[in-house]
This record gives sequence, C-alpha cells and structure tokens, in this order.
Amino acid sequence: MSVALFTHPAALAHDTGEGHPECADRVRAVLRALDTQEFANLLREVAPLAPVESLRPAHRQAHIDAILALPADEVTYIDGDTVFSPGSLEAALRGAGGACAAVDAVMEGWAKAAFVAMRPPGHHAERERAMGFCLFNNAAVAAFHARARWGLKRIAVVDFDVHHGNGTQDIFWDDAELFYGSSHQFPCYPGTGRAAETGVAGNVVNAPLPPGSGPDAFRAAWSARILPALAAFKPELLIISAGFDAHAADPLAQLRLKEADFAWITRELLAMADTHCPGRVVSLLEGGYDLTALAASAAAHVRVLMRP
Ligand SMILES: [Zn+2]
Repeated sequence: MSVALFTHPAALAHDTGEGHPECADRVRAVLRALDTQEFANLLREVAPLAPVESLRPAHRQAHIDAILALPADEVTYIDGDTVFSPGSLEAALRGAGGACAAVDAVMEGWAKAAFVAMRPPGHHAERERAMGFCLFNNAAVAAFHARARWGLKRIAVVDFDVHHGNGTQDIFWDDAELFYGSSHQFPCYPGTGRAAETGVAGNVVNAPLPPGSGPDAFRAAWSARILPALAAFKPELLIISAGFDAHAADPLAQLRLKEADFAWITRELLAMADTHCPGRVVSLLEGGYDLTALAASAAAHVRVLMRP
C-alpha cells in the first residue's frame, strides 16, 4: 500500500530556542526512525509552501496578517511558549502546504494514506490566534482545502495528542459538516475539551482523560465515544492530528500510553476510513516531546498506515 511522507528541511529552521520542548530534533528523530529498510517503500515528497489564500477559510485575515507581519530577522515571543523565529514562516507555510498536498495525494489516489512530518504543530492555533507552539492550524487548513478543491462535504479531524486541540475545535465548532473528535488529558493545557463541549450540532466529541490514565481508559474512550460518533458522521476524508505526547515517557503530560496503543488507534481509524471514505487518511504530526518515545511511536503509527 503506497503511503506518502511529506516533509521539508524548513521544519528544522523554526528555532524555538535553547531548552524548548518543541525543537527541531523532534522532526529529526521522526525522520531517522522512518529512514530504515522497513520504510523504504514510503513515497518521499516535498512539503510545498501553502499559498496564503489557503489559510483564509481556517483563520481570520487579521491573524494571518499578524503572523506575516512578524519580523523576519529576530525572535518574537507570541506568548510564553509560542515562538516566531526567522525560519518560522517558511516552516509554518510548508506545514500547512504539506497537509494540503497530503490531501491531494490521497484524493488523486496515488497514495492511500499520507503522513506529514513537519513543525510547528497546528492544533492549538485558533481562528484568530497562535498559541501553544502553533501558528497555523494545519489540520483545519487541510480540511477546508479538501472541501474547496475536492468538493468533499463531510470531513473529520481526529486527535489523539495528549493536549486538547482547542484550535481545531474553535474553527470547526459551528460547522456541522466538520467533525472534531479528541482524547486528551484533562485537566491539562490548554484547559478546554470537556465532554460537555459538543459543537453546534454534536460535531465536536471530547473524551477527557484524568492524569495517570493508561491504555484501557484511552481505548475505552475511543471505542465507546469517539469512534461511534465518527461512524455516525460518515466522513469522506479522515485527517489525524497525530500527537504522541500521551506516551508514558512524555515529559509534558501524565498519560501512560505505549507504542502499541498508537498502533491500535491507527488500526481503528484505518478501519473507519475503509468503511466510509475508501481508506483516505491524512495524518499530521502534532506533539510528542520525548525524542525516543516520539520516534518509536511515529514509526508504529506509520507502520500501520503502510499495513504490509
Ligand atoms: Zn500535545
């Protein structure tokens, strides 16, 4: 099964500064893990720059303009942990562009699934603001691209990053033809993602998990809540916000997943995609801050996407 891997060296030039967990070594670790013989059949593709117009359905013009206006020759702290450096604009535009190109790859049919290994991540970026390491919401930009370019009606983003994707929820909230489903530690950053947050038409499904939750609670949340809602939604395209920071070794949160759990949810989501949208899956790297766990978990995820 052909799986495309989209990336670009620009991802390494987004410089968050010494000691920042969201660092270039994350993408290096993922790419190194995918550079072995078992991944030799990945179709290695360049993540293109997103045209600025492609950001507009997901973000207010004022937010786009504010990012574009940031100085290109010095470091700006947008908030306490969201950094814009000289390399950040190209990295962010190639992250969004890679997500859109991944949609095109699965819609054109030359790839069955696609994984985008870029940074900065995207799921905390709201319609009107950057936050939580994220500048543009790559998953939302890709969803609107799928709607505009390919005429898809029902598009789902599912998110197993340990943090709630407040940005994707914000952007999708009042659009009943967009679905957002997330499992995440709660309470935790960013503070959203209660089960009672359901969107305008039940199109948002949140499964908060208390700190310390392990594989059983994670799998139960997906099996009992998110996957049935996703099946009822009948997506025409499945976009995964693939964060691997729910791993037991991750320093930013306290869930206790292992590589096998990321493989499990990937298999479940592929089965869902096979039923509803002839297997079309686009997966975007979000978080994951223990480099060893991140690399092993991303490899486990892509291994299942390739389903030998
Ligand atoms: Zn995260």
